[in-house]
Amino acid sequence: MQETQSTCPYCGVGCGVIIESTGAQITGVRGDPTHPANFGRLCTKGSTLHLTATSPVTLQTRLLHPLRRAQRGEAALPVTWDAALTLAADRFAHTIAQHGPDAVGFYVSGQLLTEDYYVFNKLAKGLIGTNNIDTNSRLCMSSAVAGYKQTLGADAPPACYDDVKHAQCLFIVGSNAAWAHPILFRRIEDARAANPGVKVIVADPRRTDTAGMADLFLPIQPGSDVMLFNGMLHIMLWEGWIDAAYIGAHTTGFDELKALVRDATPERVAQVCGISVADLTTAAKWFATSKATLSLYCQGLNQSSSGTAKNAALINLHLATAQIGKPGAGPFSLTGQPNAMGGREVGGLANLLSAHRDLANPQHRAEVAALWGVADVPSKPGKTAVEMFQAAADGEIKALWIACTNPAQSMPDQATVRRALQRAEFVVVQEAFATAATCDYADLLLPATTWGEKTGTVTNSERRISRVRTAVPAPGLARHDWAIAVQFAHQLEARLRPGTPTLFPYATDAADVGAEAVWNEHRESTRGRDLDITGLSWELLESQGPQQWPFAADATTGKARLYEDGIFPTADGRARFATHAWQPTAEPRESRYPFSLTTGRLRDQWHGMTRTGTLGRLFGHVAEPSLQMHPQDMERRKLASGDLVHVTSKRGSIVVPVQADTTLGLSQVFMAMHWGSEYLSGISSTGERLAGVNALTTSAFCPTSKQPELKHAAVKVLKAELP
Ligand code: SF4
Repeated sequence: MQETQSTCPYCGVGCGVIIESTGAQITGVRGDPTHPANFGRLCTKGSTLHLTATSPVTLQTRLLHPLRRAQRGEAALPVTWDAALTLAADRFAHTIAQHGPDAVGFYVSGQLLTEDYYVFNKLAKGLIGTNNIDTNSRLCMSSAVAGYKQTLGADAPPACYDDVKHAQCLFIVGSNAAWAHPILFRRIEDARAANPGVKVIVADPRRTDTAGMADLFLPIQPGSDVMLFNGMLHIMLWEGWIDAAYIGAHTTGFDELKALVRDATPERVAQVCGISVADLTTAAKWFATSKATLSLYCQGLNQSSSGTAKNAALINLHLATAQIGKPGAGPFSLTGQPNAMGGREVGGLANLLSAHRDLANPQHRAEVAALWGVADVPSKPGKTAVEMFQAAADGEIKALWIACTNPAQSMPDQATVRRALQRAEFVVVQEAFATAATCDYADLLLPATTWGEKTGTVTNSERRISRVRTAVPAPGLARHDWAIAVQFAHQLEARLRPGTPTLFPYATDAADVGAEAVWNEHRESTRGRDLDITGLSWELLESQGPQQWPFAADATTGKARLYEDGIFPTADGRARFATHAWQPTAEPRESRYPFSLTTGRLRDQWHGMTRTGTLGRLFGHVAEPSLQMHPQDMERRKLASGDLVHVTSKRGSIVVPVQADTTLGLSQVFMAMHWGSEYLSGISSTGERLAGVNALTTSAFCPTSKQPELKHAAVKVLKAELP
């Protein structure tokens, strides 16, 4: 038996795993006791990785050959890799020649490795000359990026997992860590057990399992977070709980913020948020006066039409009380996906460039062009996730390349996304599994490797970079994601810039060598930047294990926490208070759509269930889709648990059983995001077939981060009459 150290491919905790294999067969998995993210622990998803990797359903659905569909709706037939890549290059080159580089778009994934992300980004922005590359990470963390940049000056979570045990107050907002980040949640439980004096505050519209362990639970109304944070600051100012010395020495903009929060009186905040003045005051007191306060937050803040404001308003509290840059303190955003952080680092989003550079900055564009050896990087902003599919639906983007993600299920306002996929003239889907709904729209399906087969790196929520290693060979003709992108780039170069040296000199026939070469180019791009990782060779990761950034060439260790010296990466070295007034949700409840629908994760499922849905035991926790609703709302509508209901928004409708759930407030309903067409069919407002909760959600997004409001849509719920 062989043992291979690698990383769990699910959530952003980034647990280390040891894969056991015999020949080409994965036979077991266990937690890596040496990995600093989990010290050997794994949750239900991580500990069943070997079973999902080898379940008969998984094996049946693996894509093993490139497949071409001559006509949409017809069966996809096997073709050679040569034929597939030639076709893809011909079609992309033709589209670019006819309509310009912005007529193509790439939609990638926070589940890709950093090396995959780097190559796709260079392919779009460096070779083709379009910034139309975005990622499903836009749906999970772009508001956190914008919040950090707006206030602290750089997209860098300043805290680390170890801070959980140093904190005296844990402020958990918009995060059900007990289900979504289970191994991190174990740390919270351990910290509580070791120190009963630790205060835990949870703010969430739902009384989740995480809220179940809170000393103070704030069941806020959906979308009222900014009001809550501004109200807490109002009380801190009134009570003298702010740190004037820290504010004076290390920040700017406090007077404007003070003026803004004057109106956020306790009575008004209590009314908007739906909580008591006493609880609001207690939250403000514990946050400000505890020796160290750590905020942990996730999609409840990010997936919002005011996502940036929510992030920035929370960070304001840390700056005003000096709860940052010391053990146990800081604003710590949790990433949903295993490598959303890596995607940020390589600039794999429409508005970013390598190593936390900004597309809007001419100097940054020039630096990246020089690194890549191209004349320039275009200045025109690329389309972000929602914009990209809207542009394809409008006929503006004509060729789409989708890698390792399933937008036909996971994007909000599914009807528009499916129209986009239908209208696009050429769609390439690069995937490991043929089950993704997006595959149905592909003209070309390219088989990719997956967990256990891939090699490269990922970065977890605490800026820790870990290796992902190959335990078993790729099945069939599957290839690594970065290698597919490189081989396509080589074909495209022959058409777009014939006779010039390749921009992609990575050996695709030797996976470790090629991926390491990509990594080395990426780390060189970070030289002198806030996330400088020039010291992090694969050799060092091999000998010293996972490391946190920054880790410059002359460093001997990474940094556990940032801003301990009170100096921030802004022009004047000071953090900036952001002034954001509270805004209601984009689609408020109204008489025709009287319920707030919120979406989220289940404990034992992952995303579209491509892997976790293949294992019976992972349905033991929640067996089938349902709409959760407060019993009083059900009674008023004469509904009993198990009754089928139509849930309808302005965009579509689904039929699903309703279940009583006292964790929700009145006029709120909840549905898990995971269930796809096998479980939950729906229909759009114009009659198209849809599936899952995103038949209902809105694509309204935060104007700064462009992250859509997956956490709130107005819906109506009516009992379904059986024929
Ligand atoms: Fe994997 Fe996240 Fe579970 Fe760790 S907590 S084992 S990374 S799913």
